[in-house]
Amino acid sequence: MPELPEVETVKRGLAPVMEGARIRRAELRRPDLRFPFPPAFAEKLEGRRVTSLGRRAKYLLIDVEGGDVVIAHLGMSGSFRVEGADVSDTPGDFHLPRSKDTRHDHVVFHLETPEGERRVVYNDPRRFGFMDIAKREEIAAHAFFRDLGAEPTGNTLDADYIAAKFRGRQTPLKAALLDQKNIAGLGNIYVCEALWRSHLSPERLAGTLVTAAGKPKKELVALTAAIRQVIADAIEAGGSTLRDHIRADGSLGYFQHSFSAYDRAGEPCRTPGCTGTIGRIVQSGRSTFYCADCQK
Ligand SMILES: [Zn+2]
Repeated sequence: MPELPEVETVKRGLAPVMEGARIRRAELRRPDLRFPFPPAFAEKLEGRRVTSLGRRAKYLLIDVEGGDVVIAHLGMSGSFRVEGADVSDTPGDFHLPRSKDTRHDHVVFHLETPEGERRVVYNDPRRFGFMDIAKREEIAAHAFFRDLGAEPTGNTLDADYIAAKFRGRQTPLKAALLDQKNIAGLGNIYVCEALWRSHLSPERLAGTLVTAAGKPKKELVALTAAIRQVIADAIEAGGSTLRDHIRADGSLGYFQHSFSAYDRAGEPCRTPGCTGTIGRIVQSGRSTFYCADCQK
């Protein structure tokens, strides 16, 4: 499953190509992905100019003139590829390599850009991804978005915000952080990393980070900073990889994330001075990686 930083780097990679471009044709090569395409999906886009690309949680938002917004989710295995006479690039950086098998090219946006014709191709072997279309003014109240919490990249995520969410909660930190009503788009990998960086156990109860008066304890201030930093670092890493990809002529490499806790079971903890080992437990059906020696 792509995580938020991957979707953000996809957005940043597509924006220079798509923003301002006119959609000459939206080609759907099948009637559905995970869900059927909505009625008149292609017709609503054809001839329209893309006004901006955005992201909310793990959803890509493509605004077009006239007020429609394409809502795209990459599912498990989805990716976008940019093609043209002199271009072939897959924006974004993924923990697992993406398919380039053209049998799985399901949607093609044919674009007119100042640089010439471009095709933005959506490829998805497992077809857990999906696309929908809505009016811009309906987005905030849309079923995908209305219950989402704050973005970990925005200015609204601070320790006071999380304290209000965690106050009195008898939920393990891991589950509370994965709850999209608290923080939008934060997934398993970055929750593990943020808890490791802030030396907090994933099994600690969320409410124990908040004072009786509802204020954040210093551990919650540290956790908030760690969440923002792990996401920012991952986006930054994706961004630098993306620039390398664009310079490469046709040969695509994939940036390999380097995690400190996630997927490191049995390896030594990297916290300075800690002699512990990263362990793996299962919480709510998901693997949690953490060091029981320095995460309390
Ligand atoms: Zn440790």
